[in-house]
Amino acid sequence: MQRLDRSQPALILVIWCVFLTLPVWGQGTFPPIRDAFIAIENTTLIDGTGAPPAGGVTILIEENRIRQIGPTGELQIPSGARLINGRGKYIIPGLIDAHVHYSAPFLHRLYLAHGVTTVRDVGTAVDKILTLREEISVGNLLAPRLVVSGMGINPRSVKSGGFESARAMTEYLAERGVDGIKVTGYTLDELREIVEVAHAHGLLVYGHTRIDPGALAAVEAGLDGIEHVTDLMEDCIDENPPLPSNFDWSNREHFFKYYYGRLNRVVNLDKVDHLIERMVANDVYLDPTLINHYRGFVVRNTPELEADEAFRYMPKQYDRANRYGIYGPEERAEWTRTLSLMQEVTRRFYRAGGFLIMGADSQAAAPDGALPGWSMHQELELFVKAGLTPMEVIQVATFNNARVMAREKDLGTVEPGKYADLIILDENPLTEISNTRKIHRVIKDGLVLEPDILLAEHIRHFGERGSN
Ligand SMILES: [Zn+2]
Repeated sequence: MQRLDRSQPALILVIWCVFLTLPVWGQGTFPPIRDAFIAIENTTLIDGTGAPPAGGVTILIEENRIRQIGPTGELQIPSGARLINGRGKYIIPGLIDAHVHYSAPFLHRLYLAHGVTTVRDVGTAVDKILTLREEISVGNLLAPRLVVSGMGINPRSVKSGGFESARAMTEYLAERGVDGIKVTGYTLDELREIVEVAHAHGLLVYGHTRIDPGALAAVEAGLDGIEHVTDLMEDCIDENPPLPSNFDWSNREHFFKYYYGRLNRVVNLDKVDHLIERMVANDVYLDPTLINHYRGFVVRNTPELEADEAFRYMPKQYDRANRYGIYGPEERAEWTRTLSLMQEVTRRFYRAGGFLIMGADSQAAAPDGALPGWSMHQELELFVKAGLTPMEVIQVATFNNARVMAREKDLGTVEPGKYADLIILDENPLTEISNTRKIHRVIKDGLVLEPDILLAEHIRHFGERGSN
């Protein structure tokens, strides 16, 4: 047994003091503790409004709201405020993923670690997703803010839910308190009724338009938003692409490999422009979801699919069965052309003044799904490759996404009065959009989060891919 000596109480005191001061600094603590005031000093702000970056500013946060922003030195910083040196750093609003499937608990930390501070779920059982929204909003769970749609409306879900009609299901979801209505299958008459009920509750209706009734008819019937740019494109073809003789429309693999994959051969861009014009006239948004198609098809069955840094955080037990078949070089080349066309249509829509938003379609499904959090950065990059500027895509992923959720008073930009949801970047995202991945800290709801600690916590709970 070690002999006690007189230096030990002093040592214990020092350790104890360090321990006590940790929560004050918040460094390395988990779960994090909210500071009364935070000042990010002398930094460069890209606020999400589209305004040019402002250098030499200080951002003062009080509890979970941004209180003041102004030139460094002119702002009164309350004593005891936690100070963050923002010199050489860049601030952007927290990213919002407008299309996720929030189907597993391991997603919480992955979104936050990648700077995604709000997500919109577009299809989960309403009881489950409302409970999750509540747990997060009262602070029981450290997770991104959650905006919900409940289950998507289609003939199958109407029937299995025991509803009399699509109208009755819409009424039910609206009364339960969802934030919007997702539709995945309907007749035009049903869509008109869904829209009527949803709009009376102040909710948007969005989702698939698929082949029947098609995007143009759905837009004219009052649909507010189209998920997946492929839905738009398939309503703008002159004839079906060449399909194999054994082609089966109800076979998911066939549909994506041959019909969607070969869409690039038959899309008529004049029809696309006309549809875009009608979408702009009716303020119908477009959520292209590019990265899920890139990961799902363009790099299918290649090592690139699993090469992303974030892949090792995907717990293997959530892998989904292969639903899209095996791809060779020919199928991948075909999809490469279709993805370029998806990007071209996205660019045309945006340049025509369209209400463009951004979702990665991320979910708890590896290996060929979009990766939670990480894929939002890939989506930003695909939008820039489509021809938007980094400033424009940041605005789409923050301000526009807040607007589509009717949360623009609280979210989407870094401005006084808004929630303190932002990312502190080590490098300038306007010179290279992939710099949005170089995250120093994430602040969500006034909590300062360190990506490394969130990821370590994630691995502690769910293990690392390969080890499970
Ligand atoms: Zn989806």
